[in-house]
Amino acid sequence: MRIGVDVGGTNIAVGLVDENGKIIATGSRPAEPKRGYAAIAKDIAEISLELIKRCGLDISDVESMGIGVPGVADNEKGIVLRAVNLYWTKVPLVKEIHKYIDIPINMDNDANVAALAEGIFGAGKGTNSSVTITLGTGVGSGFILNGKVFNGAHHFAPELGHIVLGDNGVMCNCGKIGCFETYASATALIREGKKAVMKDSNSLILKLAGGEIESITAKNVIDAAKQFDEAAMMIFNDYVKYLAMGIVNIINILDPEVIIIGGGVANAGDFLLKPLKEEVSKNILFKDLPYADIKKAELGNDAGIIGASIL
Ligand SMILES: [Zn+2]
Repeated sequence: MRIGVDVGGTNIAVGLVDENGKIIATGSRPAEPKRGYAAIAKDIAEISLELIKRCGLDISDVESMGIGVPGVADNEKGIVLRAVNLYWTKVPLVKEIHKYIDIPINMDNDANVAALAEGIFGAGKGTNSSVTITLGTGVGSGFILNGKVFNGAHHFAPELGHIVLGDNGVMCNCGKIGCFETYASATALIREGKKAVMKDSNSLILKLAGGEIESITAKNVIDAAKQFDEAAMMIFNDYVKYLAMGIVNIINILDPEVIIIGGGVANAGDFLLKPLKEEVSKNILFKDLPYADIKKAELGNDAGIIGASIL
């Protein structure tokens, strides 16, 4: 049995996970990061001990703890180098938790952790190499090689969301223009949906958003495209084109066995995957050789806890 912890800006979620990657019990508390890291470390320990007790187990039944953090973590030193949403810089998180629980603790970035779960127990099960990209507010990414997270020499790899694809005039949160995530995030669909509605207020996108431009979601744009709304179809086609361009870049750099697509946008399922695979096949370098399969993520929100548990 292992403990997996998913620390986010709003919630701390902890789970007991068995050797098959199955979550046995979970508990959570609000993160309230303004309290400081020591309070969060104490909460992680307390929830873990509660879960162990609730399941009739003893601390000696637990092999290890893994933690996914929304930032950059140096696992060797047990230090979170930076987590912007938690206001953390060089936080000795592992040492703090060890005040309450004496088991081995590993950490990594939350996107890497989710990729580990998908690569081992989810859509990448049975593969030796997988890349998971999460299409949400931004574009998160993780690269799993031989069962382990590959996070680079300085702990921040991969940041595929910040590969620059072109000059679309959209400034990314990182300060550059044209990052992959300004084309391929859910935020990109929302931004283009709003633009289209401002040009044509008869668009189905606005109707699906209840007539409120500020309420437009990525799903509204996708649903309008499914119903052949012209503006939405154009947005979605462009979206697929650039998502495919980013994926071809990833394939050219890493040539993984599988690329796994997660996040809210992936819920579009085959409506996204079918044209995406077609577009990738048109732009792949070696058209006559096999290359990465593209699959939808399988574990949803559980990926954070499951992946952390096997760090
Ligand atoms: Zn960027």
